[in-house]
Amino acid sequence: MAVIRFKALEQVFNRKPLHVTPPSDKISDYYAINVFDKEKMQKYLSKDAFNHVMDAIEKGTTIDRRKADAVASGMKAWATERGATHYTHWFQPLTGGTAEKHDAFIQPNQFGGVVEAFSSSALSQQEPDASSFPSGGIRNTFEARGYTAWDPASPAFIIDNTLSIPTVFISYTGEALDHKTPLLKALNAVDKAATEVCQYFDKNVTKVQANLGWEQEYFMVDEALYYARPDLALTGRTLMGHASSKDQQLDDHYFGSIPERVAAFMHDLEFEAYKLGIPVKTRHNEVAPNQYELAPVFEECNLAVDHNALLMDLMKKISRHHGFRVLFHEKPFQAINGSGKHNNWSLSTDTGVILHSPGKNPKSNLQFLTFVVNTIKTVFDHQDLLRASIATAANAHRLGAHEAPPAILSCFLGSEVSGMLDQIEEQVTSKKMTPDEKTALKLDIGKIPEILLDNTDRNRTSPFAFTGNRFEFRAVGGSSNPAAPMTILNAAVARQLIEFKKEVDDLIETGIKKDEAIFQILREYIIASKAIRFEGDNYSDDWIKEAKKRGLTNVIDVPEALSAYLSDKSKKLFFDLGIFTEAELEGRTEVLFEQYTKKIQIEARVLGDLAINHIVPTAVKYQNRLMENVLGLKEIYGESYKELAGNRIELIKEISDHVTGIKVGVNEMVEARKVTNKLKDEKEKAREYSNTVAPFLNRIRYHIDKLELIVDDEIWPLPKYRELLFSS
Ligand code: ADP
Ligand code: MG
Repeated sequence: MAVIRFKALEQVFNRKPLHVTPPSDKISDYYAINVFDKEKMQKYLSKDAFNHVMDAIEKGTTIDRRKADAVASGMKAWATERGATHYTHWFQPLTGGTAEKHDAFIQPNQFGGVVEAFSSSALSQQEPDASSFPSGGIRNTFEARGYTAWDPASPAFIIDNTLSIPTVFISYTGEALDHKTPLLKALNAVDKAATEVCQYFDKNVTKVQANLGWEQEYFMVDEALYYARPDLALTGRTLMGHASSKDQQLDDHYFGSIPERVAAFMHDLEFEAYKLGIPVKTRHNEVAPNQYELAPVFEECNLAVDHNALLMDLMKKISRHHGFRVLFHEKPFQAINGSGKHNNWSLSTDTGVILHSPGKNPKSNLQFLTFVVNTIKTVFDHQDLLRASIATAANAHRLGAHEAPPAILSCFLGSEVSGMLDQIEEQVTSKKMTPDEKTALKLDIGKIPEILLDNTDRNRTSPFAFTGNRFEFRAVGGSSNPAAPMTILNAAVARQLIEFKKEVDDLIETGIKKDEAIFQILREYIIASKAIRFEGDNYSDDWIKEAKKRGLTNVIDVPEALSAYLSDKSKKLFFDLGIFTEAELEGRTEVLFEQYTKKIQIEARVLGDLAINHIVPTAVKYQNRLMENVLGLKEIYGESYKELAGNRIELIKEISDHVTGIKVGVNEMVEARKVTNKLKDEKEKAREYSNTVAPFLNRIRYHIDKLELIVDDEIWPLPKYRELLFSS
C-alpha cells in the first residue's frame, strides 16, 4: 500500500476515545457559565444599567454613553473573575466564518505597570481594518477602516481566555459587510409587520419574534485520512473516489449506535456548548456512514444564528482534539447523502403564542391560518429569492441529488391543513358570506387543533415543509450561515404581512366585517399561491415535469440562481424595507459571484494537481508492470503469449485511454480557466466558470474513478471511500 495511505490507516487503528469528564453530572450546574446573560447582568450591573440594557434588547433602544460605561465595567469584572485576560468583538463577515481580533484588558499605569481596563468605547465600537474582508467593491481602497458595533441582543461570552462581544460589521461609509446587520433589519421588519397583523386578533401583542431551530448535519473523518486527501483538506469535499461497495444502501447507519470515539467528541462538544449557553438537545447518526446530526432547542433567530456560527467553530476545534476533522460541506462524498442545515422557523408573540401553531379557539385559529397562508404566499411570490439565499457552489451538488429537495421551491402542508385551505377556497365566496357559510367555516376552523394534534404527516422530501408548529426550510446547506436564508425569509414575510394588512384594511373600510375581510383576502392568497403547494415526492422526476407545468421555477445553475438577488422584485423588497441599499446589494451579490468562481477555481486547481501528480504516475506505474508481465509471457511462450495476456493487454489499453482522458481534460480545463479569468465582470465570470470550467470536474473525475478500480490497491495513493467512510 502506498506509504502515505498505509501510515494514515495505521494512525486510525491506534486511536483511543478521548473521554472528557464535566465537573458535574447535571448540565444545569454549568449551563451558560461562560455567558454574560441576564442573571449575571443583574448581579454585576446597577439596577439602572441593567434596565437600560434590557430596553436595548427588548425594544431596540440605543445605549447611552454613561450607561455603557457601567455595563463595560460590570462585564469586565465578571469576565476577569472568570479568568479572561482579553476581549474581542466577534462578528460574521461574508467569508462564511467568524472573525475576531483579541486585545488584552491592559492599560499602562504611571508606575510602569498595568491595570485591567475596559472602556465603554472598547465595548461599543471598534475599528478593524476592513480591507481584508470581502465587500464586493463597497470599500474603496482609500478608506480601509470598518466598524464593529455591539449587538446587546446577543450576550457576550468567554471562550478560552477571551471575552467575546457579538457585533455587527459595517464599512466606514455605513454599508453592512456582514451577515448580522441585514438579519437584524429583517427581524425588525417582521416584528413590526406581524405585530400589526396580530392586532386583528389580540390587542395585547406588542412584539413578535422570529424563531429559528437549526439542525446541523455533518461528517466526521479521521484527521490522518483527511490529511492524506488533499482534495478534502483544500476544498472540503472529495473531488475523486470510486463509490465504496457498501455505503448507505442497507440503511443501517441512521439512528444507529454512535461509535465510541465520535460519542466522546460529542460529549466534549456538548459540554463546551452548554457552558456557552447553546441549548444543544438532539444528536444522532445520519443516513450516510460517518454522518451525524446535532440540533438545539430553537431560539430567537438572531441568537440562534450566532449560536450556529459559534457551534460550528467549536466543532472544528474540538473535533481536532479527538483526532477528527468535521466536514460541513454539502456533498463531501459523491452519490451518498450530503449535509443540510434545516432551518425550522416560526413567529411567536410576547404573549407566548406561536403564530404558526394552531390555537385553542376559533379566534386564534384564524390567526394561525393567517400566518400559515401568508407564509405560503411569501414562498410562492419569492421562490427565486429564497433559492438565491441558499445557492452556493457546494449546495448545488446536494440539491436534487436524490436525498435533498431539488432547486424547485414548494410547500408541503400535510393533508389536514391542505384540506382546510381547499375548504376555504370553496366555501368563502367573494360576495358576502351567508350565516350558514360562516358557521360552517367557524366549525371547520374550530376543529384544527384536534386535527393537528395527531397529525404525524411528514414529508421529508419537501424544501419547505409545515411541521405542526413551524415551517422547515430544508434546502439550506450544511456549511452556510443561516443568516442569509433567514434574512430573506423574514424580510419577504414582513413584506407579505404589510401587504395583507393593507388589503384587509381596505376591505374593512368598505364596510365588511373584520373576520370576513380576513377570510376573503386569505382565500385570494390560497388561490393565487396554489401552485407552490405540493404534497407528493419532491425527489421524483414527475415532480420536475409537474412543477414546470405549474410555472414554478427550477434554476439549477448557481450564478443564475444568485441573479435573483438583483431582480426588480427583489430590489423593491430590499429597498422598501431598508434591508439593503443599492450599494450593499450590489456589493453582496458581487461577493457571492466571486465566491462561486473562486470555489470552482480552487477545485479545478486541486483536481488538476492531484490528477497529474498523484493519479497519472500511479496509473503509469501499474501499466508498466502489466507491460513487463506481457513481455515476460512473450519471452516464455513466444507468439502464443497473446492468448494468455489478452486481458492484460486490454487493461494496458484501458489505462492509456483513461490517462489520455485525464491529460486532455486537465489541459482543456486550464485553457478554459485562462479565457474565463480575463473577464472583469464578476457575474459574467461566475457564469463562465459554471458553463465552461465546472463541467471538467466530473469529466476528469470519471477517468480517475475508473482507474481506481483497475490499479493495484497496493500503490493507490489516496485513502478510498471505504476507508474515509468506515474508519472512526
Ligand atoms: P426533526 O429531525 O424531526 O425535524 P429535530 O428534533 O431534529 O426534528 O429538530 C427540530 C428543530 O426544530 C429543533 O431545533 C426544535 O427546537 C425546532 N423547533 C421546534 N418547534 C419549533 C418552532 N415552533 N419554531 C422553530 N423551531 C422549532
Ligand atoms: Mg427536521
